[in-house]
Amino acid sequence: MRILLVEDEPALSLGVARALEREGWQVDLLVDGRQACAPGLIEQFDLAVLDLGLPGLDGMSVLRQWRSQGARLPVLLLTARDELRDRVAGLNAGADDYLVKPFDLSELIARLRALKRRAQGRVSETLQVGELTMDLEHRELSHRGEPVRLSPREFALTEILMQRVGRVVGKEAIVARLSSWEADFSENSVEVYVHRLRKRFCSLGVAIRTVRGFGYVLEACEGAPADGIADEA
Ligand code: CA
Repeated sequence: MRILLVEDEPALSLGVARALEREGWQVDLLVDGRQACAPGLIEQFDLAVLDLGLPGLDGMSVLRQWRSQGARLPVLLLTARDELRDRVAGLNAGADDYLVKPFDLSELIARLRALKRRAQGRVSETLQVGELTMDLEHRELSHRGEPVRLSPREFALTEILMQRVGRVVGKEAIVARLSSWEADFSENSVEVYVHRLRKRFCSLGVAIRTVRGFGYVLEACEGAPADGIADEA
C-alpha cells in the first residue's frame, strides 16, 4: 500500500513514516499544502494522511481540492485541536476519518487498515488464493499453515496480486504502488520480482499468469502449471 503523508512537523512526520514503513507500506511525505494539490499527484496513492494545519495551504483546502478533482482515495485527517467544528467540517469536506493529536501510532495504523478494508470491500485482514493465506495484520503469508517467507517487496507485490485474485493487475499499477519518491521501482524490477515469486509459488499451487501487454493475474492452479507460467523464465 502506498500512502501520502502531508504533515509539516518533522518529529511527528518522521515517527509516523517509520511506523507505517514497518507495516510494509510505502510512504511519501510532503510538508506544504500547495505541493499536495498538484494535479494528478494523488492518483498513485491508496490512502492519504493529511494534517489540517499546514504551511502554504491548510489541510481543509487541500482536501476540498482533492475531492473537487474527483479523487476518491480514503483520507484520514490529523487535527491539532480537539475541536468539534474542525472534525465536522473535515468529514463534511470528504474526509473518511480523523485523529486528534497526540495520538497513538497503533491507533493510526488500525484506522488506516480499516479504511483500506472498507475501500476494498473486505471484512477481514485475511487474503486467500488456493491454499495460500495472507494475514495482513501480522504481515504473514502461509501455505496450509506453514509460513512462506518473503522479502518486504515480494510480500508487497504478493499482497497487490492477492487483492485482485483472478483479475488482471496492470504492470504500471504495480510500479506505482511499489514506488516511492526516494526509491523508484521500474517495470523491469516488477518482472524480476514476478519471476522470483512464480518460482516460489509454483509448488504451492498458485500461478502468476502473464497477460501480454497488460499485466499479471494471480490464480490457484491444479496440477500442471497454468498457461504463461514460463513466459519470463
Ligand atoms: Ca501542522
